[in-house]
Amino acid sequence: MKKIGMLGGMSWESSATYYRLLNEEIKKRLGGLHSAKIILSSVDFEEIEKFQHSALWDETAAILSKEAKAIEDAKADFLIICTNTMHKVVPKIEKNISIPILHIADSTGKALVRDKIKKVALLGTKFTMTEEFYKNRIQEKFGIEVVIPNEKEQNIIHDVIYKELCFGKCKRSSRDEYIKIIKRLEEEHNCEGVILGCTEISMLIKQGYVDIPIYDTTLLHVLDAIDFALEL
Ligand code: GLU
Repeated sequence: MKKIGMLGGMSWESSATYYRLLNEEIKKRLGGLHSAKIILSSVDFEEIEKFQHSALWDETAAILSKEAKAIEDAKADFLIICTNTMHKVVPKIEKNISIPILHIADSTGKALVRDKIKKVALLGTKFTMTEEFYKNRIQEKFGIEVVIPNEKEQNIIHDVIYKELCFGKCKRSSRDEYIKIIKRLEEEHNCEGVILGCTEISMLIKQGYVDIPIYDTTLLHVLDAIDFALEL
């Protein structure tokens, strides 16, 4: 079994989900007392979030590159970065390490292709929804059209992530807002699926709340990591 490097803390609420899912998946596949081999570095999200909202991405990249190197030095075989948003700085992090990074958009894109999805809605932070690093990867590498919410909806989604979900709060009113947005994107744009493109959204939205298939990036990233960890 390969040793998984986890770069987490963004937020720790979703890293806790990653940790649980990684171990549950290993147990499911190998049985007994098997558990995942993991090296975890968990950063202080307050520092990262301040830099994000001041557009100081090089500063975030410097912190994450240092932690990624520490994970490599601790002998992890590969790295997963437990947030969609911070994949924005993956090209910078990659320059500092030699172990591979399992990109969360690739884990998601592969699942979409498997299910023959041609058009998908994307929910996430404003950075993930509006910038190119995520959407373009899904569009160009996997040939899937990506639809994003309108500006008003983007603000709602973004604020719920940073003001509620990253604090572990799941409000019914926010769930209703998210469901409304997903339904509009399905009906008006004929989206065939929705990417929960933020690692905390699955705390709020589960399959069953909406009819459209959901693509939970946290779970898909975990499944991909376990496939890779168990590859001989
Ligand atoms: N975990 C979130 C994501 O997947 C948001 C927090 C962050 O900005 O890293 O994008």
